[in-house]
Amino acid sequence: MKISAPVAEIFCSLQGEGLYMGQRQVFLRFAGCNLRCGYCDEPASLDDAAARAMTPQEAAAAVVKLARSKKASDVSLTGGEPLLRHRFIKALAPLLKKAGLRLHLETNGVLHRELKAVAPLVDVVAMDIKLPSATGQRARWADHKRFFSVVPEKTFIKTVVTNRTGLPEFARAVRLAASVWDGVPFFIQPATARRGVRPPSASFVAEASCLAAALLPHVKVLPQQHPIWGVK
Ligand code: SF4
Repeated sequence: MKISAPVAEIFCSLQGEGLYMGQRQVFLRFAGCNLRCGYCDEPASLDDAAARAMTPQEAAAAVVKLARSKKASDVSLTGGEPLLRHRFIKALAPLLKKAGLRLHLETNGVLHRELKAVAPLVDVVAMDIKLPSATGQRARWADHKRFFSVVPEKTFIKTVVTNRTGLPEFARAVRLAASVWDGVPFFIQPATARRGVRPPSASFVAEASCLAAALLPHVKVLPQQHPIWGVK
C-alpha cells in the first residue's frame, strides 16, 4: 500500500520553544489534529484541505535538500499532530536518519500507542501537557501519563498557561511529570496574547514556577520566542 500524508508546509526556521530554543531546524508540518485547543497558533494546519499529499520519499527529499542548503542538523516533525501520521513517520524517519539528521517530534502528548510505534526512531520528544482551562477541553491526565512513560529519557514537557489557568490543575500536571521521571526538563509556557487568549499574570507565573520547582529540579519559564523574533 502506498503511504502518503497531508503536509501543510516544510520550512527552515529557529526553534522558538522549549529545550532546543534558538536552534536552526527544518520543520515538517503535518495537517490535521485530534485536539482543538483554544490557544492554537496553527489553525490552518488543523484542516488538511490546503495541504499537499506527499510520500515519505518526497517529503524526505524536500527536508534533506532544505537542511543541507540551510545548514540545519535537526528536523522537527510538527503539526497539527504528527502522530496521526505514525505509519508515514515510520517510513520517513529512516530516510532522514540516513541523511544524518536528528529527529524531534512536537506532539500534544496523548497518542501513546502511536508514540510507541515510532519512539525508537526519534531523538527528542517535545510533549505538551494540556491543561483543561487553557484548551477548553476535557483533561487527558491518564493519556499524558502513559505517553510520558513511553520514552521519558528522550522527552521534555511543555505546559501552556493562560490567564484562566488555576494552580490546582497546574499542580496536577507537575505531579504527573514527577511521578514518571522528576529529571524531566519542564517548561512553563505563558500563552502568547492573541485574539481570545491572554497570558497569565506575573504573580501566577512566579507561584507556578515555585510550585513546580518543589518537585522538579529542571523547571524554566519560557514564552514562545518566534513571535518576539518575528520569525515563523
Ligand atoms: S494540539 Fe497543537 S495543533 Fe492541535 S489544536 Fe492544540 S495547539 Fe493546535
